[in-house]
Amino acid sequence: MNEELLEPTTGFSEFAEPRDPPESPRPRTFIARWLIGFVGLALLATNVWLVVTTRKHEIAQTHLVNTNLARAMSDRVEVSIAQVEHILDSLVHALERDEITNDLLLDLQPVLVNHVARTDQLQGLFLYNAGGALIATSEPLWDEGSNNSDRPYFLHHRSNSSGSALVGAPIISRSSGKWVVPISRRINDADGGFEGVVLATLSLEHLRLVLERFDVGEGAVTLSIAGHYAARHPLIASDIGKPADAVELVLGKTSAGFGDAPSPIDGVPRFYSFERGRTYPVLVIASSSHDEVLSAWRVSSWLQTLWVLLLCAALLGGLRVIRRALRQRLRAEKELREAHGALALANARLQKLAQLDGLTGLPNRGYFDRRLERSFKQAQRDGTALAVIMVDVDFFKQFNDTYGHVKGDSCLVRVAAALRTVVRRPEDLVARYGGEEMVILLRGTDLEGAGAVAEACRGAVKDLAIAHAGSTMGIVTVSLGVAALVPGPQSTSTALVSAADKALYRAKQQGRNQVARSFSSDPKLGA
Ligand code: GH3
Ligand code: MG
Ligand code: MG
Repeated sequence: MNEELLEPTTGFSEFAEPRDPPESPRPRTFIARWLIGFVGLALLATNVWLVVTTRKHEIAQTHLVNTNLARAMSDRVEVSIAQVEHILDSLVHALERDEITNDLLLDLQPVLVNHVARTDQLQGLFLYNAGGALIATSEPLWDEGSNNSDRPYFLHHRSNSSGSALVGAPIISRSSGKWVVPISRRINDADGGFEGVVLATLSLEHLRLVLERFDVGEGAVTLSIAGHYAARHPLIASDIGKPADAVELVLGKTSAGFGDAPSPIDGVPRFYSFERGRTYPVLVIASSSHDEVLSAWRVSSWLQTLWVLLLCAALLGGLRVIRRALRQRLRAEKELREAHGALALANARLQKLAQLDGLTGLPNRGYFDRRLERSFKQAQRDGTALAVIMVDVDFFKQFNDTYGHVKGDSCLVRVAAALRTVVRRPEDLVARYGGEEMVILLRGTDLEGAGAVAEACRGAVKDLAIAHAGSTMGIVTVSLGVAALVPGPQSTSTALVSAADKALYRAKQQGRNQVARSFSSDPKLGA
């Protein structure tokens, strides 16, 4: 079938093949990708923030606890020293009021014993004369020849007229052999001259017991008095009495504070808080090891990070599933679109085929009838002319008889093609009417114009010069009947076709190979 030839001469252009429906816009998977990426990053950032914040919180809490511990301990030690200083004050007051005689010393002895017995932290009380000789003590047994004029506190008071108490660095008591803190005061004679020293020894054993009453966990509390280690919990006995210069260097001059540094005592990294006594040279440091403070934080941080990583992995897995599902959907949609396009194309072709004549490729009789009806009504509305030309091959029966049906068929194909070369306007139509008859529908064409077209058609077929021995002309010719009208309200398309048919009959009767026009173009189309 020769479709190109049909259009535009046959008015068949409305059978254009359908186009593929436009592809649906590709879903924007990158939005999902960005969203999931953003959520993953937000999770990781939140995790980092939580890990850092909880670490800071743990350390702040540790500083708080240690600061309170150091302050409580410092206050406690200061109270102990203040109690002892108070005892020294009362003794000095009594000794400076009267002259120091043997009787006075004998009276003083039980007073000293009584003070020591009633004061836990007090280990002993000692009275030295201006030469450093021991003249009274709370101790039951004492060496009458003992002399402490070499002790730093003695030298201090002898050369210093200040009446305030001196708290010294821890020393080993010569009387008991135990670690004590010397707290001493100068005694003046009536003229303000140096008359001796009264000494109280503070038991380091007692301070150690006080320290040990605090639960420090894996931490440590260190007490230094007058710049020397006095006690520690847990105890490091070998450090007692040693200068705490390294610690002082780290802490500086401030009265209280906290920090993070390796311990100068055992080298373990620790968070520490310290507090200095407000009245006495007391320093308390409470510290906690990093491991102790941060071990719980480490475990929870790891678990939390692991959980966040698992969530991120789940998000990535989800993204993969979504992308795969989207890809499958896209593929299915594409296949559906292709199937739809193919179906529409097949439908259009079928529809076209159903309206075509299989032999000549011209529109068939059914199509002609519908187009005639439409064009007729249009012409009625517009008041324009409409023409029909009936075409019939002359002596075609003889042609078949002479040359056979196959040759007959190809003859019809060539005649149809010849007609199409003449009728070329898009709104005109050449159709196969039936058998070897064809019909031409011309819109906006009157009888004269249609006659001219018919004449041209006759000439075109004649010019084919197909040999036809059974014809009087010797070649294949056609006879044509033309009818035309401007359809009025009473006119019918059947009458128009019938008029053309009658005209064709006349053309046959008058000798064939000619055009016969309908006699009338009035609504009734009388032949
Ligand atoms: P006239 O000049 O009076 O038209 O004579 P005619 O032989 O053409 O008259 P008639 O209409 O009686 O004959 C038509 C013949 O056309 C009959 C049939 O064999 C032949 N015919 C009709 N359709 C076809 C077709 O599709 N193919 C072929 N080969 N022949 C056809
Ligand atoms: Mg016929
Ligand atoms: Mg015929």
